[in-house]
Amino acid sequence: MTNDGPPRDGFRVSGDAADGSLEALRERNRIRVIDALRRSGTATRSELAGMTGLSRTTVATLVADLQAAGLVVEPGGDDAATRSGSRGRPPALLRLDPSAGAALGVDFGHTHVRVALADLSSTLLAEATARVEVDHEADRALDTAAALVAQVLESAGVDRARVVGVGMGLPGPYDRGRRVVNSSTILPGWVGRDPADELGRRIDVQVEVDNDANLGALGELVFGAGRGVANAVYVKMSTGIGAGLILCGAVHRGATGIAGELGHVQVQPDGIVCNCGGRGCLQTVAAVPTLLAAARAAHGPDLTLPGLIELVEAGDFGARRIVGEAGRAVGRVLADLCNHVNPEAIIVGGDLSAVGEPLLAGIREAVDRHALPGAAEAVEVKAAVLGERAEVLGALALVIADTERLRSAGLASLAGAV
Ligand SMILES: [Zn+2]
Repeated sequence: MTNDGPPRDGFRVSGDAADGSLEALRERNRIRVIDALRRSGTATRSELAGMTGLSRTTVATLVADLQAAGLVVEPGGDDAATRSGSRGRPPALLRLDPSAGAALGVDFGHTHVRVALADLSSTLLAEATARVEVDHEADRALDTAAALVAQVLESAGVDRARVVGVGMGLPGPYDRGRRVVNSSTILPGWVGRDPADELGRRIDVQVEVDNDANLGALGELVFGAGRGVANAVYVKMSTGIGAGLILCGAVHRGATGIAGELGHVQVQPDGIVCNCGGRGCLQTVAAVPTLLAAARAAHGPDLTLPGLIELVEAGDFGARRIVGEAGRAVGRVLADLCNHVNPEAIIVGGDLSAVGEPLLAGIREAVDRHALPGAAEAVEVKAAVLGERAEVLGALALVIADTERLRSAGLASLAGAV
């Protein structure tokens, strides 16, 4: 690739850099610096060298490129003095320029929609949530999401034109290749529609869609319990049960977006029929509605999930048994998954994860009993740390970690240099 136009947006294009492979390498290295700043918030040049494995000289050059492009700033810093390496001054802290762009995350659960707005350094600027019936009423859910988007943009004072993209999560299998919901029964109101297009038209910003458990996995990987983990299973235990697989540091979605549909693994061949059409799925045994139905027999028809969690915390024997058995049922399926993919961590999220110990202990027990000893020993079972915000933070990460998108928006100047 050649560069025959003039250098743009402050990037000095040397004779060397006109060589495509060299410039591609430099661009990859710029992205590494941006990724490191995104993870750390702020860092000095030498910290960036440590985080990226690049030399300090290389980092200094890349940072100068990024500063010239307006993507990296030194809050309160004096560029000229710090860049010349004057002694006696504390090393300058760098960060991504918040004004370089913003990202939106939109998370649809089965009964809620949550919206978050962040700058490109992943600092949250505003959040909003509403309860809405999502599975059957796609239009109302999408309209509600669009209204929440307008609300967060206004409350943070961010212009819509500065939003580089929207990450959107749906609580069902989604085929990113064909851009369709990949089940006619789990999200019946969404069948035959392109969710990215539906929301994109309403809010006039490009939308990227993924399954909610995949986004929860991504959220925990980038911001939470999965940081530094290369192979992990994030299990979302809520109204449904789903899993996001992190393999070799990336979300694994499979051929048509079905990967991680843990809730629809059959565990009772003679069990009840599931919303997927199957019989005896894990979800019919261990998801929140089933646990509540069991606990209501003893505690009345008005018992809610927070009520069940209170009972568990108070040591109620029956409530602890119900939750422990759910953990063992999920753990039994996870044990096989441990044999298949040998993860380092099982991260348990979703509404039910707030019950803590009896659930985690049930999962641990079943994994130890049913996985190969080597696989069981390798895996840590732990609670997610982002709680109900894991999915929406993952939706933000989907946009912010998408370097192609950044290149075509806030990082247009990077593309110009190639
Ligand atoms: Zn099912």
